[in-house]
Amino acid sequence: MAAHDSVERKYVYDFAEGNKDLKDLLGGKGANLAEMTNLGLPVPPGFTITTEACKAYLTTGREPDGLAAQIEAHLESLEREMGRRLGDPDDPLLVSVRSGAKFSMPGMMETVLNVGLNDRSVVGLSAQAGRNDRFAWDSYRRLIQMFGKTVCEVPGEEFEHALDEIKRAKGTHDDLDLDADDLRGLVGAYKKIFAKHTGREFPQEPREQLDLAIRAVFDSWNAERAVLYRRQERIPADLGTAVNVVAMVFGNLGPDSGTGVAFTRDPGSGAQGIYGDYLANAQGEDVVAGIRNTVPLQELEQLDKTSYDQLLGIMARLEEHYKDLCDIEFTIERGKLWMLQTRVGKRTAAAAFVIAGQLVDEGLIDLDEALHRVNGAQLAQLMFPRFQLDHEFEAVAKGIGASPGAASGKVVFTSARAVELAAEGEAVILVRRETNPDDLNGMIAARGILTSRGGKTSHAAVVARGMGKTCVSGADELDVNVPAKRFTVGDHVVNEGDVVSIDGTTGKVYLGEVPVMPSEVVQYFEGELDPETTDDALVRAVHRIMTHADAARRLRVRTNADTGADAARARRFGAEGIGLCRTEHMFLGDRRELVERLILASGEREREDALAALLPLQRADFIEIFREMDGLPVTVRLIDPPLHEFLPPLEQLAVNVAVAQERGEDVAKEEALLAAVRRMHEENPMLGLRGVRLGLVIPGLFAMQVRAIAEAAVAVVRDGGTACPEIMVPLVGAVQELETVRAEAERIIAEVVGDSGVEVLIGTMIEVPRAALTAGQIAEAAEFFSFGTNDLTQMGWGFSRDDVEGAFFWRYLELGIFGISPFESIDTDGVGRLIRIAAEEGRAARPGLKLGVCGEHGGDPDSVHFFHSVGLDYVSCSPFRVPVARLEAGRAAITTTGSDSR
Ligand code: PEP
Ligand code: MG
Repeated sequence: MAAHDSVERKYVYDFAEGNKDLKDLLGGKGANLAEMTNLGLPVPPGFTITTEACKAYLTTGREPDGLAAQIEAHLESLEREMGRRLGDPDDPLLVSVRSGAKFSMPGMMETVLNVGLNDRSVVGLSAQAGRNDRFAWDSYRRLIQMFGKTVCEVPGEEFEHALDEIKRAKGTHDDLDLDADDLRGLVGAYKKIFAKHTGREFPQEPREQLDLAIRAVFDSWNAERAVLYRRQERIPADLGTAVNVVAMVFGNLGPDSGTGVAFTRDPGSGAQGIYGDYLANAQGEDVVAGIRNTVPLQELEQLDKTSYDQLLGIMARLEEHYKDLCDIEFTIERGKLWMLQTRVGKRTAAAAFVIAGQLVDEGLIDLDEALHRVNGAQLAQLMFPRFQLDHEFEAVAKGIGASPGAASGKVVFTSARAVELAAEGEAVILVRRETNPDDLNGMIAARGILTSRGGKTSHAAVVARGMGKTCVSGADELDVNVPAKRFTVGDHVVNEGDVVSIDGTTGKVYLGEVPVMPSEVVQYFEGELDPETTDDALVRAVHRIMTHADAARRLRVRTNADTGADAARARRFGAEGIGLCRTEHMFLGDRRELVERLILASGEREREDALAALLPLQRADFIEIFREMDGLPVTVRLIDPPLHEFLPPLEQLAVNVAVAQERGEDVAKEEALLAAVRRMHEENPMLGLRGVRLGLVIPGLFAMQVRAIAEAAVAVVRDGGTACPEIMVPLVGAVQELETVRAEAERIIAEVVGDSGVEVLIGTMIEVPRAALTAGQIAEAAEFFSFGTNDLTQMGWGFSRDDVEGAFFWRYLELGIFGISPFESIDTDGVGRLIRIAAEEGRAARPGLKLGVCGEHGGDPDSVHFFHSVGLDYVSCSPFRVPVARLEAGRAAITTTGSDSR
């Protein structure tokens, strides 16, 4: 039965039988050759052997039944069409055998040209080419070289040596100086090399050459470099490659022949025009190998105006047909133009936006399609300042590109020094082993942050991304010595005040200053560039596509911000409210002392005093934020982190106390602090006394915060503003926790707001798996849910978010356990399932329940699509990612087929 099936299967397609939508079966190259053939463009005739045949061969180790016969039949019809037979001694047909997978894998797989040449047909080829012996013997030696290397694994250098040898003997460096006799001699030398390495003569039978070449292309799918490339580009390993057998056309038949590559628009900037290179009297491989210098395509107009005009006509036709930038390869054989390849061309992020905008202007695509063709990763790339790396700068270390961008500045090792130098107008890079909440001011003051420890979700990385500040984390080649104010890397010692440059995209660290360019797209978002009047094509295109995304999207986009300045910037970037205001940052800096008083309070009175002192400070913070977000919702989260984060580290405190005791100083206060720190020490603080648990354990703490929020809202409203506060309780796992907090909060709110008209919603984070699984109960006490996907991922997987990325994620990625860190892009199967359950059960219990997300994933392009599909109302992300989330929310709303450019 199986044999019967495989006989029936069609493994070979003539170009006239395929089309561009058959990439799975015919590969990109084959599908597009078929498409061009059907458009009536001059494509040399040929046929494609399918990826199915390749897969069958790779699984069983032999060509599937029926393949040989189908190749025979298609070869015969190719021979009929060309009026020549493969390898005919008098008038040979020659073919190229080219790989072509669904996704382009440039240079990764094999090609063999001039198949069909042998000791006899080389003479026929010469006659065919007008008694051109030189050309014929050159073609033959190329076949032996390519065939030897790719089909029989003969070391390529041996052929190179033999060629160099002949050129040396002739006293030249140029292949073109070799005449027919030289090349005939070279063929002899090549045949010897072939025989020495393979133990057999170079095959003279054309059909055997063809079959072996096809098999070599199949095998090249699993070549080491192809496997590596696929892993890197995330191309599935089981697709297989198609094989294209194409009648040879020659660009090396004389000055009226040549070969070239072209783009229909500039793939770097998107600018319209003719971009390409041409090389007269050459074959494609010469262009790739860079043996001779190409000329700009425009010069073809002088050399061969007819072919040039025809080429431009074809390029316009292809653009119109594919409705996109195309790249092409072509050959001119004695004044006749042949198209060898086309495909939708790769482009830079800037070109992607510009071209999408142009194609709308030209009426080729609509705005939905334009939106579909760009993506958030490209927009993010365009929003960061970049290094101008025109001349060589050598990186001294490479860490994790934790927060993109480029920054140069003087090295400082403490937050205080960063603030000091920045105040003097210096650009500084804060270098730490790792950062902690105490470094916040220094991080704000610095141009960039460099740490020797920590991954993409380390404190430094998360906070830097939040600020849109460049950060390289985990550069473990750096030995950072903070007390000595220096770090060493390799043989270099870098002292405070020395200049370094860091690239937060690549993770590279440079010594000295690398010049930086600002992003014009950020200038536009900041309102500094008017999209209506600017002549910057990129800004105009971004504006147009963003406007469409905003009109299309269903998801709202809020921001995570806890200062007035961040809130204001996010609003300029299009935020429609605050989805997470973390109040813990308001307990740091000079307020730390008050927090210490609160923690150390020995009785109710002392605690109330400390809280009373904190209240007006908190209220002032909220007033500032509510004002910036006038009219928009602001979700304020009650204090979340373990309290020890507000106290000095145990070791440091113990040393201070011991030293002071030694000196006989009064250390009563420090001793009390030390005792408190010891008392509060936890083995797993992220699973300890934090979040709602703090509110239930420390009387008055949440009450103070709720009062500050309500009073701030009333103050703003009394001033004529509109405040829309939403109070969010963190780390809830059981509805009873929320009910307890809620009862007290409602009492305080009622007392404060009176008849001011202020309305305060009360809701919860869903960040503990139990909360997700009991969402139906929790929804009874919550007016909204906000998914804290950082903690939900941490607790869902049992991964410590501060440790695992640096510790072992590299291994998990290598093993393919996941393709991307689940802290970066939501794990839809596991953590995503918890979100789905909570969303469904929450809404079932309370129809219309407002749902959002405020973990890091809120600004991740793929995750935004997932949140759209789950039916959330909004995503909230750091100010810098707000435009990315807007764009992706728009794309999610118009993406119906799933085949997008992500
Ligand atoms: C979260 O856990 O996703 C969250 C937003 O809270 P935090 O990162 O502050 O724990
Ligand atoms: Mg959390």
